[in-house]
Amino acid sequence: MNLTRVSDGHLPDVFLVSDDGIGLHAFIAFGDRRRVPSFGGIRRRRYESPAEARREAERLARQMQRKLCAAGVGRGGAKTVVMDHDGLDRRAAYEALGRAIASLDRHYVCGPDVGTTEADLDVIRGVTANVNHPDNDPAATTARGVFLSCLTTVARLGEDAALEGARVVVEGLGAVGGRVARELVRAGARVEAYDVDGERTAEVAATLKITLIDDGVPPVERLCDLFVPCALGGVVTRTNVGRVGARAICGSANDQLESDDLASVLHECGVLWAPDFIVNAGAVVEGVIAHGRDRADVADEIAIALEAIAARLDGIFEAADGGACGPLFHALELAGEGWD
Ligand code: NAD
Repeated sequence: MNLTRVSDGHLPDVFLVSDDGIGLHAFIAFGDRRRVPSFGGIRRRRYESPAEARREAERLARQMQRKLCAAGVGRGGAKTVVMDHDGLDRRAAYEALGRAIASLDRHYVCGPDVGTTEADLDVIRGVTANVNHPDNDPAATTARGVFLSCLTTVARLGEDAALEGARVVVEGLGAVGGRVARELVRAGARVEAYDVDGERTAEVAATLKITLIDDGVPPVERLCDLFVPCALGGVVTRTNVGRVGARAICGSANDQLESDDLASVLHECGVLWAPDFIVNAGAVVEGVIAHGRDRADVADEIAIALEAIAARLDGIFEAADGGACGPLFHALELAGEGWD
C-alpha cells in the first residue's frame, strides 16, 4: 500500500492511497489540517477518472469542515473517496485503507458514507481504532436531525404551515431517506418518493404505504411543499434551478447545490433552502461526542445535540427572513467562512 500526499500546501490537504495488487485507488482529503482529530466518512462508488474522485473528496471534505464548524465543534472535517470497479478486492481495500489511516501523520476517525457498510468498517476496526464507535447509528442520528429540520423548515412556510397534510417528495429511500420518510408519514405528511433502485424502493415504499414516482418528472421539479433530497448531491443545478417545484428544500444529501451561488437564486425565487451541512450534521456530531467514550453514557448528550441542529437552522432562517442574503450566507457565517 502506498500513501502519498498529493496536495501542494493548499487546503484541502489530500493523500492518495493506492495498491495496484488489490485495485485500490482512494483519496483522503482534510478540510483543515490544524484541527485534530478529523472526522469524516468513506465513500465508495464508481468514478470516471481519478481527477473526478479527487474533486469529490475535496468538495466533501470542505463540506465536512463547514458542518463541524457551524455545529460549534472544533474538529477537522475529512472525507475518503474510494474508486469502485469490478476488479476491486473490497475486503483487502478496506484493510489497506485502515493501515493508511493508522499511519497518517494526524488523527483521523473514519466512518460510513455511501457505499461503505458496517461490515466494511469492521474490517478497518481489525487494523485501527480510528473508526466511528460501533454502537453509533449514523443513519438514525442523521435522519433524526433531518426530520427535526423538516419540521422547522415547514413551520417557516406560513402561519399555519405544518407537516400534517403537507405534500412532500423524498429522493432516495436508503438508510437515511427511508427513516426520514417513515417519520414524515407518521407526522401526517403526504409523501411521494423516488429511488433509482426500483426493487428496494418498492419494498420500502410498500412498508411505509407511500406513493412511488415513476412518471419521468424529476423529483426536484415536482410541485410540492417540501423536497427532501436524501440520495446523492448536485440535485439543484444551473439548468434546473428555475424549475424547482418545491416551496422548500431540506434533506440529508451532501453538497445539494451544483455551486454555492445557486443558493442566492433559490432565495430570490422564494424557495426556502435548508443548508445541507447544517441539517445533516447528526452523524458526525454523534461521532465526535461518542469518540473514546461509552456510547450509553452519552445518549442524552447526543439527543440534545440533535435538537440543537433544528434550533440552529431556525436561527439561520430567522436571520435570512426578509433580508437580501439567504440561509446559506448566514450558515457560512456560522461556519466562520462568509462568502468565498
Ligand atoms: P444510502 O446509500 O443508504 O441511500 C442512498 C439512496 O439513494 C439509495 O437507496 C440509492 O438507490 C438512492 N439513489 C442513488 N442515486 C439516486 C438518484 N440519482 N435518484 C434517486 N435515488 C438515488 O445512503 P444514506 O446513508 O441514506 O445517505 C444519503 C445521503 O445523505 C448521501 O448524500 C449521504 O452523503 C448523506 N449523508 C448521510 C449520512 C449518514 O449518516 N448516512 C450523514 C450525512 C449525510
